Amino acid sequence: MGWTDTHVHLVDESLSTQLDEVLQRAHQAGVSNMICVAVDAATSDSAIKIAEARENVWASVGIHPNYAHLAEYRHWDEIREWTRHPRVCALGETGLDLHWDDCPFPIQQANFDQHWELSRECQLPLIIHMRTCESEMLAAIERQATFGPLRGVMHSFSGSTETAQKCLEHGLFISFAGMLTYKKSQALRETAKTVPLDRILVETDSPYLSPEPHRSKRPNEPSQVVYTAKCLAETLGIGVKDLDKITTENAKRLFWRMK
Ligand SMILES: [Zn+2]
Repeated sequence: MGWTDTHVHLVDESLSTQLDEVLQRAHQAGVSNMICVAVDAATSDSAIKIAEARENVWASVGIHPNYAHLAEYRHWDEIREWTRHPRVCALGETGLDLHWDDCPFPIQQANFDQHWELSRECQLPLIIHMRTCESEMLAAIERQATFGPLRGVMHSFSGSTETAQKCLEHGLFISFAGMLTYKKSQALRETAKTVPLDRILVETDSPYLSPEPHRSKRPNEPSQVVYTAKCLAETLGIGVKDLDKITTENAKRLFWRMK
């Protein structure tokens, strides 16, 4: 089958400067697909270029909440156009972030809403970033749900079980990254047990968030998704091969343009 790393920033210099090696190691580790995630218009363009050149790399296009104040109208015209590209399988990453104060919160909210609107238009799912804002996120999701069914994934999830359940009720997927493997993440592993198998995904969020046992080793890269996957399989009490099949089928269902 082969793992799908649903979230990697290959455009980041730490990975883009050694792309061949990174993809080679991913292949050796059994990673067969990955989504190269953008944070603004420029990285959306770069993600598409990488995805056009590499069979197993797919692109997302969109604007991260911490960059939302820098987005211009013309960037949105480009993003809307790119949603038709055959290698683009998602919108984002977008979402809300109250940890950093790079971008005023009302601008983040408007940016997030704009991604939802585009998702309803083009049917592509959102890759959602949530940091230190669970109640604000749930309020935004609940409001969006009044406009129609939601497609998307809570990426690198580190919220509470209650938040996960509310996101699941609205049809969203939950994706786990390296944080799941940390010793102190017992609560997160308990949350993982409550996520239905048909809504669970894995990712690295490379070059950030290296999993154990390579936590200090930077940068993180897609080959390391197997450590998070192994931890998740143990947590769920299922075989690693089964989890591979389950998460890859889930990824193909949510990111329907990915083959
Ligand atoms: Zn990311």
